[in-house]
Amino acid sequence: METKMTVEAITHGTVIDHIPAGQGVRILRFFQLTDGQERITVGLNLRSKNSGVKDIIKIENTVFTAEQANQLALFAPNATVNLINNYEVVDKFRVSLPDQINAVLSCPNSNCISHDEPVDSKFYVAVKQSKVKLKCHYCEKSFSERLFKELK
Ligand SMILES: [Zn+2]
Repeated sequence: METKMTVEAITHGTVIDHIPAGQGVRILRFFQLTDGQERITVGLNLRSKNSGVKDIIKIENTVFTAEQANQLALFAPNATVNLINNYEVVDKFRVSLPDQINAVLSCPNSNCISHDEPVDSKFYVAVKQSKVKLKCHYCEKSFSERLFKELK
């Protein structure tokens, strides 16, 4: 309940909660949230009853799609997404990892053919020892999500 006091409620929009501390800023960058005009409230290193510290992101007048929510799982596998309408939570779901991520990430392998060919990047998602690994369809190498840069 402490988060309710430290981060203001929003009228309409999306609240992403239970983000591991430190990942909030990466999520803002990945989804290019700060490029828009909507008001965004970010709480970093908030105390959480269950998990120590966490980040939280509130985006006004924006509804996260299921696809975005699944991409979010890369950074925050235990995040919850709350859709808010008129101050009420109208929908709430946990993110889940997709099987594949296409066209949004760039392969960390600089020799990968995906950099030279006009193809969409394509990665298969796997979880090993509770860490997310992404295997490139083209060079077949596996990478931890921390190595990735989003495509611009
Ligand atoms: Zn590759």
